[in-house]
Formats: sequence, C-alpha cells, structure tokens
Amino acid sequence: VHKIGVLTSGGDSPGMNAAIRAVVRTGLYHNMEVFGIMRGYQGMIDDDIVPMHSRSVANIIQRGGTILKTARSKDFYTPEGRKKAYDNLKKHGIDGLVVIGGDGSFRGAQKFSNEFDIPCIGLPGTIDKDIAGSDFTIGFDTAVNTAIEAIDKIRDTADAHDRLFIIEVMGRDAGYIALHSGIATGAEHILIPETKTDIEAVVDSLEEKERRKKLVNMIVVAEGDETGGANEVLSIIKKRLPHLDTRVCILGHIQRGGSPSCLDRLIASRLGYAAVDCLLEGKHNIMIGIMNNKLHFTALDKAVKAKQRISEEWMKIVKILAS
Ligand code: ATP
Repeated sequence: VHKIGVLTSGGDSPGMNAAIRAVVRTGLYHNMEVFGIMRGYQGMIDDDIVPMHSRSVANIIQRGGTILKTARSKDFYTPEGRKKAYDNLKKHGIDGLVVIGGDGSFRGAQKFSNEFDIPCIGLPGTIDKDIAGSDFTIGFDTAVNTAIEAIDKIRDTADAHDRLFIIEVMGRDAGYIALHSGIATGAEHILIPETKTDIEAVVDSLEEKERRKKLVNMIVVAEGDETGGANEVLSIIKKRLPHLDTRVCILGHIQRGGSPSCLDRLIASRLGYAAVDCLLEGKHNIMIGIMNNKLHFTALDKAVKAKQRISEEWMKIVKILAS
C-alpha cells in the first residue's frame, strides 16, 4: 500500500479530526501519499479527492466536526455508484482506505472491498458508543461531557424552583450517554433502552420522594428509550402528578459538537496511527477498536451495532445513590 485515502462517513463526532490528523501524519511518516476524500463515500463517487500534507491537518486536533465533511451517500448503495468510486480511486492510484464512521459506513466498506481489491480499515467514530468490538468510540466521551455540563446547569435552575426536569439525551438505540451522564450528574432516574422501563414505578418513587420532602429534580432519558423520550415521560407524569412543576429539556445536537475531550483525542490519535500500521502489515477489512486498553481487531462484517450489556451493578448504584 503506497497511496491511501481517508474519509469520514455517517454522523459526525468530536475527535474525527484528530483521527484524520493521525492517519495523514502517520502515512506521510511512512512515505505514503495520503488523500482526503470529501463527504464520505459521496466524495469517492464525485471525485472530490484532495492530496493531504502535514500542514493540511495543522491546528485541527482540538476542533469538533470533520474537516473532510461527512455525508450519507445514496449512490454508494448501488453497484454503479461503487464502481464509479473505485474508478476514481484507481485514477489517483489509491490502494488503501481508512473509513471513520459507524456500522453503516463499515457495511459500505465491506461491500466495496468485496467487489474491488481495495483493503479497508474502519475506525469507530460515533457519539453513541454502540459498536461491537470496542470499549470506546471516537466522540462518546466528549458527548457525555457536553451532556454533563448542560445537565449541571439545568440542575441549578431546577433546584432554585423546586422543579422536576426530564432531560433527553442522544444515543439512538444505545443508552450509554444517558447512563453515564445520569450517574455523573446524580439524576434520580435514568431511562435507557437496554433495561425495561417501568414508568409507573418511576412515578411511584417520585410520589414517595415527594412525601419525604426530598427535592426531586432530574430524570435523564435516552432518546431510544421504550417510553419514546422526554415528552412522553412528561405526559405520563403530568397525568398522575399534575401539581409537580415538571419541565422537559431535549439537549439535541449540542452533544455532537465542540472541542473533543482529552480521551477522545487520545483514542483518535492511537486508532489513526494503528490504521496506517494495519494497512502496511497487509491487514484488511477490519475495524480497529480498543478493548481493555489494547487494540482489538474485528472483521468489518462483525463490527455491527451492538447493545453491550449494562451491568446490573450500575443500575443498583443509580438506585441507591438517588435515594
Ligand atoms: P452513524 O451511526 O453515525 O449514523 P453510520 O456509518 O452508521 O454512522 P450510515 O448512514 O448508516 O451511517 O452509513 C453511512 C454511509 O455508508 C451510507 O450513507 C452509505 O453511503 C454507506 N453504506 C451504509 N450501508 C451500506 C451498504 N449496505 N452498502 C453500501 N453502502 C452502504
């Protein structure tokens, strides 16, 4: 492998830039030529491919988003689209690809490298932390910290008014942002898709705490929870406890932006460096993750969305600490 391309695909996440930087600089260190592919797979199809130099990735390690932009490409689902993408890579002489994205992006990479002889390495980049084969994903730690900062602020005002706040965080089908941010901010209840939500029991406990005059002020709910989210939880609580001053706050896209945390920069740098190493060693069609602080390789077709088990112990801790 002498010429490699790097792209970001699917939803963006903070730390993607740090990963791009690591891929570019490690590639250049090994005397490779490195190309940046704009807007994910769409840039491969549209031949939006630019040579990268050391300076191209200067001053980006601390920035959220992705300098290469990201997109969801409909054309890449079609054989014609992928053929066009391959022809463009050939034109530039690109013979290896690093794809930073989620499981959908890995499915695309897997399909592409099955059809054409281009080794692909995937790096998990998503705030949701929902990919099998990695304890971390690039962006999760930053997203959680952003959520914590916001929830702490909400807590101040909730406390001042004796209000109950229902705060909805991102994560799609995964509850990690909710679980981690809820624990770290001392939420009374954390509602996540991985565990059954007994909403009536939640209301019972609010009632009981009210009787004890405990100031109840926060419920954190994952957007993918079976209740349907914060507004749905609000309407249930309103029915049974109409006298409570209950408000909803949906944190939304602020969780996807901002300067990456130290942990995300470290993970991104380590994974970006490893991706080039793997291409040099002739490894292909794998996702590189980190498990137990070691690099961990997963075949791209196994790097799927995964509900990692949330330990019973954590749920017990949440209950005890919020009592
Ligand atoms: P996120 O989880 O953050 O949304 P993702 O990588 O899962 O990221 P997707 O939109 O699912 O996001 O996938 C990104 C792109 O990968 C798609 O827009 C498409 O171009 C390509 N892709 C996904 N699945 C396939 C597939 N089965 N065949 C070909 N290309 C695919």
